[in-house]
Amino acid sequence: MIVAEKKPLDAIARMLDGCGRVLAVGCGTCVTVCFSGGGKEVATLAASLRMKRRMEEGKPLEVTEAMVQRQCEWEYLEPLAEQIKEYDAVLSLGCGVGVQTLAERFPATRILPALDTLFMGLPSAQGVWEERCQGCGACVLDKTGGICPVSRCAKQLFNGPCGGSQNGRCEVDAALPCAWHMIWERAEALGMTESLMAIEAPKDWATSRDGGPRRMVRDDLRLPAEQGQEGGE
Ligand code: SF4
Ligand code: SF4
Repeated sequence: MIVAEKKPLDAIARMLDGCGRVLAVGCGTCVTVCFSGGGKEVATLAASLRMKRRMEEGKPLEVTEAMVQRQCEWEYLEPLAEQIKEYDAVLSLGCGVGVQTLAERFPATRILPALDTLFMGLPSAQGVWEERCQGCGACVLDKTGGICPVSRCAKQLFNGPCGGSQNGRCEVDAALPCAWHMIWERAEALGMTESLMAIEAPKDWATSRDGGPRRMVRDDLRLPAEQGQEGGE
């Protein structure tokens, strides 16, 4: 899932300076699961913003609460199309993709982010989320026993540990396990340590963010009239 956390209340309130009517929109998928942008969080944030405006400025802030199942797909935004015109701004409790999808769909309205988007990860324990993938575009998990050296090794090493690992912990942050310690242990358990002896060539980061903004085009899924064209903006 995409993991995000709420911005500080003061920062959100500052974004709303000059606004009288705001639509706060949650998202029913990733950010609901990580307790940052679901219905309860929308309600709590809306109440806090109303109270803050009233107490600090002595005037009301009207905040209407709304939820969509996914902010990152056009069709789920359509139910907002009529009401959105009535507001000075939309406060999105979606991830950065959701905020941008709203901004593209409703270019005449100010769309503001209430969350900071952090990473792609999983809830590893109650109340703990950990990064697991950076979307590098050329997955190597087949070689590393399902443990990602891009997102879980602080130095993004591909040919074994850095030498600073102590007792299975990462030298950059001892709170974290050393990814390469885990990779080796997993390889031992799977009987594949020999495969780790092969030298991995330098990674081609062109498939990652280093190659610029990325997109995926599936010609077989495109409308017949658009097949073979470049696509996108
Ligand atoms: S190797 Fe790349 S695609 Fe695979 S999990 Fe790691 S970052 Fe994600
Ligand atoms: S200690 Fe392990 S996880 Fe940390 S940087 Fe070195 S190899 Fe990577």
